[in-house]
Amino acid sequence: MAIVISKQKNAETLMDSVENISGINIRGCLQCKKCSNGCPVAGITRTGPAETIRRLQLNTGDELLENDLVWMCVSCETCFARCPMKIDMAAVMDALRHIALQKKSKGHNGNVPLFNKSFLNTVRIFGRTYDLGMLALYKIGTSSYLQDTDKFPMMLKKGKIALLPSFKADKKYIKRIFKNKKDIK
Ligand code: SF4
Ligand code: SF4
Repeated sequence: MAIVISKQKNAETLMDSVENISGINIRGCLQCKKCSNGCPVAGITRTGPAETIRRLQLNTGDELLENDLVWMCVSCETCFARCPMKIDMAAVMDALRHIALQKKSKGHNGNVPLFNKSFLNTVRIFGRTYDLGMLALYKIGTSSYLQDTDKFPMMLKKGKIALLPSFKADKKYIKRIFKNKKDIK
């Protein structure tokens, strides 16, 4: 059988896109699974971090964007601390979220994308995260105005939430980041 060598460049795979956005070398993963063993949410997600990486390597397609870990990863960096290849999984998950939003993937887990957007909007406005502003945006988006409000006085008393945003942020610098990354949603 004749083998035809095409000059046409292969289309960018999901792994290529993730590597380009995150700057992480996914190909270096050894599948030692230290990340999955330490991940605090892997026990409740269908796919763990090591499997996510493996699926990217095997180019199993955009179905991976519907992976619940993409939206449930809490960016704790435990996996990064344990990884012998220094693969920053939180950055990989950020890239996957970004691509999922761009492609309007249907795999969004409940209101997590709205939470993500509320967080980014407060950083965009105040130069730093502002919990109260983020909660307000989230509650407006979900129309869940009274849900969990009973916890608010205790959080305030324990200093877990501030009434006012921080004024220490370098807003100009943050604005420049958002300007350079126009596709941050
Ligand atoms: S800890 Fe690192 S090398 Fe090991 S499976 Fe996870 S990502 Fe791959
Ligand atoms: S950063 Fe995400 S994937 Fe890594 S251990 Fe934490 S929750 Fe799991």
